[in-house]
Amino acid sequence: MKRTLIRPARTTLNQAIAAAFLSVALVCPVWAWSDHASLVWPLLRSQPELIHQTVAAVPLEAFLIAEQEGIARTLAAVESWSVATIEHYPPTPEDLRWETGYAPTAERFFAAIRINPMLPYRLYVDLSPERAQPERAPLAWSELSFLGGGTSQLDARYWALAPGEPVSIAEVIASANDEPDFGMDIGLFEDNGTRFGQRYGFGIQPFGNPNLEYSSQAPFHMGFYHLDWLTRTAQPSLLRTYPLWRIALFGELAELAFSTGHDYWGWRFLGWGLHYVGDLTQPYHAIPLPGVGTVDALWSVVQGQDRRAGAVGLQPPRRDRVLPVPAADPRARSPASGQRRC
Ligand SMILES: [Zn+2]
Repeated sequence: MKRTLIRPARTTLNQAIAAAFLSVALVCPVWAWSDHASLVWPLLRSQPELIHQTVAAVPLEAFLIAEQEGIARTLAAVESWSVATIEHYPPTPEDLRWETGYAPTAERFFAAIRINPMLPYRLYVDLSPERAQPERAPLAWSELSFLGGGTSQLDARYWALAPGEPVSIAEVIASANDEPDFGMDIGLFEDNGTRFGQRYGFGIQPFGNPNLEYSSQAPFHMGFYHLDWLTRTAQPSLLRTYPLWRIALFGELAELAFSTGHDYWGWRFLGWGLHYVGDLTQPYHAIPLPGVGTVDALWSVVQGQDRRAGAVGLQPPRRDRVLPVPAADPRARSPASGQRRC
């Protein structure tokens, strides 16, 4: 009896919510929540100890080599906690886990924490708005990310750091706070056309259009932790979101780095985790359709391009913004200039 009622509701609501996601994902002004470095500066400016103290930039490999054992313990603890605590958490496949029997390479680390390995994760700084630009040439956006970048990313604002170079703690946090949007969580699902996506164990992308440049990161940057019963029942794929896991993971890595004297990586991991906290403060990252009840949302979307959809900022899908199907290497994708992130 219940099945009979739920099945048609699920089919219709599935289609409606899928259409809503596609619509929202394609509308820049509604979706935009980017440049996390600028977003965090009002908070950092009020903490002079973070502005005036510096730490020396250290390559990731140095941290991995020095703390191989501690990383193994930390990641094992995060894994147990995640399995026990996070609903629908997909366990890290055995062969990806960070263990002391292997060489502590960056490649193994990226696989163990299941992030996109195509980014350089280099030493760099996104300068404080108050700081004068250095005399040397800035880094191009393409030296930090394989994504096309929007207006703010294409400005001269990033500078390479040499190992050992001092940088203010506030700048490390601000720079790192934007980094998860550089492509860290792109291409991680099985159907994203990447080799690592097939190994990471996240399965098929639960929602969003896998052909959109930024879409595949959405389940890591959006957390639908308070869905009503009907939506949970009709669209269980919306429960497969993972920002809480990323926050715990990077928070614990930060703790490890601080407690072992790797302050630069402590602040950088902290900045990575802070990104997801910031994302969850944006209504479109915490609720599928903010301000719209389930039934109203269903009705509005079923109506397609009606005034209610317009009233909540939804627009009909624009095929001209859909990117080609991704190639095996995300660098090979066409850049979508000006496309925004989450
Ligand atoms: Zn984000």
